[in-house]
Amino acid sequence: MLEAFENGRDNLQYDFMITTDGETYYWMRITAHIFRWQEDNSVRMLVYRQNIDEQKRHELYMMEQMQKDSLTDLYNKVATQEHVRRMLEQGPDQLFAFFILDIDYFKEVNDRLGHAAGDKVLVEFSGTLAGQFGKDAVVGRIGGDEFIAFLSVTGAEMAKEHAGELIRALRNRTEGGVSITASIGVVLAVGKETDFETLYKKADFALYKAKRQGRNRYVIAAADDENK
Ligand code: GH3
Ligand code: MG
Repeated sequence: MLEAFENGRDNLQYDFMITTDGETYYWMRITAHIFRWQEDNSVRMLVYRQNIDEQKRHELYMMEQMQKDSLTDLYNKVATQEHVRRMLEQGPDQLFAFFILDIDYFKEVNDRLGHAAGDKVLVEFSGTLAGQFGKDAVVGRIGGDEFIAFLSVTGAEMAKEHAGELIRALRNRTEGGVSITASIGVVLAVGKETDFETLYKKADFALYKAKRQGRNRYVIAAADDENK
């Protein structure tokens, strides 16, 4: 407090969580006004405490919502990028798998069944994705029918398992008699040796190959795709 005052600040504010029963926590704000008391030249502080729980929870909720895609509740494009970048930074020696997923012939789903049915497919697909990858993965919708999943893996086998499981999970999925499948491009990389753009480019090229090979499959980017 004294240090702040010496640096020219006369107001301090801290938000923190406290508990009175050891179970439920709520947000408090402490605001301190620091001033010099003329009479004895001492530094004094006027402090008041506010319960800001409701306001803070609303603020945090709004911040969460800003990161979300409103249709599917997955991360939106900007939030996906940010979370991937952060995980890469925090795991320089960690092996990661980056998946791009794109629904096959989705335009046809819209054309044949209507936009609302298309939306329903997107929402269900998102649920399948989130369930498959779990809470340690970043799962986001970055375009119309384009999704990203990103997580740390122990090796290529684990990435293949995830991709295979997804293809299998979609196998019996139909909407109005139209079967819903997806194509997946995957790339693996160590945190410090890559970045979002490189991962995206390589996974997108693998996705393009999966589409070209007939869709409803996954392709893992090969080492000789390095410069593509
Ligand atoms: P491909 O197998 O090559 O991926 O073919 P595709 O028909 O899926 O082609 P593409 O991925 O380019 O098509 C995406 C379509 O998604 C185009 C657009 O009309 C539709 N779309 C984009 N956003 C939305 C949305 O929010 N709701 C619905 N229902 N459709 C959307
Ligand atoms: Mg598509």
